[in-house]
Amino acid sequence: MFQKWHLFTPGPVPVAPEVLLAGARPTPHHRLPEFSAVLSEIREDLQYLFQTRRPVFFFASSGTGAMEAAVANLFSPGERVLVVRGGKFGERWGEIAEAYGLQPVYLDIPWGEAVSPEAVERALSENPGVAAILLQAHETSTGVKHPVREVAEVAHRAGALVVVDAISALGVYPLPMDEWGLDVVVAGSQKSLALPPGLSFVALSERAWERVEKAESPRYYFDLRREWKAYQKETTAYTPAVSLLLSLRESLQLIRKIGLERLFAHYALVSRACREGVLALGLEIFPRVPCEALTMVKLPEGVDGGALTRLLRKRYGVVLAGGQGQLKGKVVRITHMGHQSPLEGVLALSALEVGLSELGWPVKIGAGVARALEIIREHAEEVYA
Ligand SMILES: *Cc1c(COP(=O)(O)O)cnc(C)c1O
Repeated sequence: MFQKWHLFTPGPVPVAPEVLLAGARPTPHHRLPEFSAVLSEIREDLQYLFQTRRPVFFFASSGTGAMEAAVANLFSPGERVLVVRGGKFGERWGEIAEAYGLQPVYLDIPWGEAVSPEAVERALSENPGVAAILLQAHETSTGVKHPVREVAEVAHRAGALVVVDAISALGVYPLPMDEWGLDVVVAGSQKSLALPPGLSFVALSERAWERVEKAESPRYYFDLRREWKAYQKETTAYTPAVSLLLSLRESLQLIRKIGLERLFAHYALVSRACREGVLALGLEIFPRVPCEALTMVKLPEGVDGGALTRLLRKRYGVVLAGGQGQLKGKVVRITHMGHQSPLEGVLALSALEVGLSELGWPVKIGAGVARALEIIREHAEEVYA
C-alpha cells in the first residue's frame, strides 16, 4: 500500500537520482568529438577509482563479461591456472577457465572461509608452471574478504599473475592496483560502482598486457587488442552503452567528490555497525573474515531464509538477499553497496529484528539497532565531517 522499496541486495544496488537522470538525457552519438571528451573524462576517473596508471577498459555486459574477457585475453588453451574456489563466484572463474580449454587447478576452501596465503604458496609450489591465480576480492556469495594483497605477494614470488574479481569490492575498501601489483582487476556496474546493470570493467598490468598479444584463446567482442586501438583514438571498438556511460560519468564524479578514503571509511563504519548489531541480537555472522560490502547473517535454526525475505519484502518493502547454493535458506545478506546514507543499514537491521520476531524467533526488538547506532554515533564525526 505505502510501498517504497529499500534495496539491500548485492546487485543491483540503489542508484543516486542524479546518476539515473544523467543516463536519461538524449543519447549522444558515440563517434562525435563531444562524446570522445566524455570518454576521456570517464577513463581518467576510472584510473582514479582503480588506483592505476594503466588504461581501464569497459564492455556492454554484466560483470561476468569482464571476467571472460580476462580469461580470453590472457591465456591459451591447455594452460594451467590456480582458481580459489570457496563460493559461487570462485566456481565461476573455474567454469570460464574450463570453457576456454584451460586446465584449472582448484584450491578449494570451505564456504565462509578466506584463502590463506600459505595455502596459495603451497599450491603454487606443488603445481609449477601455473600461469596465474584467479580469485575474488570479496566472494559475494559467502561475504568473505580474501587477502588479495598477501596472495599477490606470494603469487609474484612464484612467477604467477594475479587476476582479481573485484566486482563487489572496487571502491568499497582499498585495493590499489598498481601499488599492490595486481595484474588484472575486474569490476561491474551494478554493485560497488552504484550504477544500473550493464557495464563491466577490466584493467591489466603491463605484465598482463604482454600476454594479450600472445594468448591463443579465441575472442571477438572481448578482444582487448581492438579496444586498445580504439582507446588510443579516444573512442571504442563497438557501440558503447552510451546512456550508462553518461550515468557512469556522474557516478565517478560523485566518487571523486567524496574521495576514496572517505568512501572506504563509510563502508568500514556501516558494515561494522551492522555486524555488531547482528551480534547484539544473539545471531552470528556467517563469514570468518567478513567483507565491508555486505553483512551475511547466519539464521537461527528453524528460521527459513526464504520466508524471512518474503515477509520483509511484502510487508515492509525491504529487499534482503538470501543465500546461494549450499547456503540457500540458511542466511540473509544485507548489502551496504550503492547509494545509501549512513543510517540505511540500521533500517535493514530493524527489518531483520521485526521479521525474526514475526516469524516467532525470540528477538529483543531494538537491541541490534541500539548497538549499531552506538557505533555510528561514536565515529560519525570522523567519517562524515
Ligand atoms: C555479482 C558478481 C559477479 C557476477 O557479476 P554479474 O554482473 O552478475 O555478471 C562476479 N563476481 C562477483 C564477486 C560478484 O559479486
